[in-house]
Amino acid sequence: MYPRSFHYHRAGSLNEAVTMAGQLGEGAKFLAGGQSLIPLLKLRFANPEHLVDLNFIPGTSFIKEHSGTLRFGSMTRHAEIERSALVRNIPVLHDCAAGIADVQVRNRGTIGGSLAEADPSGDWANALITLDTTVHCLGPGGARSIPLSDFITDAYTTALAHDELVTEVEVKKPPAGSGGAYLAFKRSAPVYPSASAAVQLTLAGDVCQAAAIALGCVGLTAIRAGEAEAALRGKSLDDKTIAAAAEAARAVADPQSDMRGSAEYKRQLIVALAKRALQIAVRRARGEQVEGAHLYA
Ligand SMILES: Cc1cc2nc3c(=O)[nH]c(=O)nc-3n(C[C@H](O)[C@H](O)[C@H](O)COP(=O)(O)OP(=O)(O)OC[C@H]3O[C@@H](n4cnc5c(N)ncnc54)[C@H](O)[C@@H]3O)c2cc1C
Repeated sequence: MYPRSFHYHRAGSLNEAVTMAGQLGEGAKFLAGGQSLIPLLKLRFANPEHLVDLNFIPGTSFIKEHSGTLRFGSMTRHAEIERSALVRNIPVLHDCAAGIADVQVRNRGTIGGSLAEADPSGDWANALITLDTTVHCLGPGGARSIPLSDFITDAYTTALAHDELVTEVEVKKPPAGSGGAYLAFKRSAPVYPSASAAVQLTLAGDVCQAAAIALGCVGLTAIRAGEAEAALRGKSLDDKTIAAAAEAARAVADPQSDMRGSAEYKRQLIVALAKRALQIAVRRARGEQVEGAHLYA
């Protein structure tokens, strides 16, 4: 199906994009990679009167290391993140970028658009929530910075006003002795996961000092598995401890039965994914190079 007709506006700067969206009103939408928005337009689930294109704004696609953080311009494509040597040092991010859909989607889709879309099945929010992540925004009232945990407030809902933009995503680099992993279970590459698990650990010797576990596609937003994290902290991470933590993750998963599987099937997936992600994260925290790859049905 063709989209309903709309007016196209090309912004030359972030400030101009915000001003345009403010003047055009609530019928305006920003266009980034178009990998969520264009299918919605074609299905006529979204019918904006105006599109404000962000693709021609200079200086919005970058990955920079700065004072112990990595900063991603909002228009940075998934594929650029996948290829980045800086990102290789934070494997949970590399796993995430490399596993999103197929190469066509990764070449167009952006990190800013993905967070702004807040799709409960989207990968970025789930991986980024295991790290100390801040979303930098620009609106008519100026710039503001929002912790990722406060940015996504519900399914497809964020703290952004209609004329407010994501400008950068900032991630604090994990300390030495850290390792992470992001694993999803998918029916095929170009579809969203049925379930996913993200893990970020810090070890002191063999003992877990800090742990973050997040579950995707099993709730309205990414879910932090607090009890599973507590089951790891202060412990030596042997098979038994890892299995107990993965089992604890099951309790917070709140999946719906749908075309990707029954709720009970997804709970089983969560336990298996959390266990495998933890095993990979521990090995990476110990300095091993481990390739992580999504699992396919
Ligand atoms: C076949 C297919 C499979 C996919 N599979 C996956 C998958 O497995 N995992 C996954 O995570 N994603 C998947 N995606 C989605 C993809 O990752 C998108 O790139 C992403 O969800 C949205 O990013 P975008 O840059 O394309 O945003 P757009 O589609 O351009 O915009 C999405 C929404 O965000 C708003 N927006 C965009 N940029 C900004 C900004 N800077 N500030 C404020 N608002 C903004 C837009 O107005 C719109 O409402 C898939 C897409 C397709 C087509």
